[in-house]
Amino acid sequence: KPAFEARGLEKTYRMGEVDVPALRGVDLELFDGELVVILGPSGSGKSTLLNILGGLDVPTGGRVRYRDHDLVGATAADLTMYRREHVGFVFQFYNLVPSLTARENVALACEIAPHPLAPEEALRLVGLEHRMDHFPAQLSGGEQQRVAIARAVAKRPDVLLCDEPTGALDALTGRIVLEVLESVNRTLGTTVVVITHNAAIADMADRVVHVGDGRIARIDANAVRRPAS
Ligand code: ADP
Ligand code: ADP
Repeated sequence: KPAFEARGLEKTYRMGEVDVPALRGVDLELFDGELVVILGPSGSGKSTLLNILGGLDVPTGGRVRYRDHDLVGATAADLTMYRREHVGFVFQFYNLVPSLTARENVALACEIAPHPLAPEEALRLVGLEHRMDHFPAQLSGGEQQRVAIARAVAKRPDVLLCDEPTGALDALTGRIVLEVLESVNRTLGTTVVVITHNAAIADMADRVVHVGDGRIARIDANAVRRPAS
């Protein structure tokens, strides 16, 4: 049974007098332990889809559930609980607290989690064991994003949702960040969903979901990365 199941998902933003359709009927299943890349041009609805999967936004039509959590009928309080218990977020910008070290930034996220990793363990997982006591300003963009990933995984989410995590990075640094996400996926078994407009990063995924104009155009399974079981 898929972990996520979306059926006929629609989202229309109301801008004054104008309706802006962002999702126009999306059917999608995501499975536990998968690494999925959602690929599509800017404005195609990727962020809207990811925000709905993460309980940050609700659709205007259709259904979506995560395990037995209905993400459409849920109250705001239900969605907050759902996010806290199950979801880690990584965004294009790192949103680290500048006055705290890498270790302290990660520790902050551990405080509210029931079974967190130790901050040191999370930072080791992203290859930053030698940067624990550095402040964000002392770290490169790629390193700051790895701290942000450590912060997201420290609470041991089932699912890691990443919105253009390499958007602010050059190709090589972006590659390293993606390898870190792949390592999290393999080491912890975390389901990882990465949205991007950069086709070059799709080869690391188990599946690539191609989105265009609020619809799923195609889904490619990448048999090379992980043989079908
Ligand atoms: P992507 O992530 O692929 O760039 P988005 O999901 O951000 O696409 O946006 C899809 C469409 O919805 C775009 O036309 C965008 O302008 C519109 N949109 C997204 N968020 C909002 C919002 N909060 N209010 C109004 N329109 C929005
Ligand atoms: P909390 O679990 O502390 O109540 P939320 O559930 O509101 O936090 O948000 C989950 C995560 O997503 C947090 O790390 C929060 O900083 C981040 N977040 C929520 N909305 C946005 C947004 N629009 N842009 C960037 N980060 C966001």
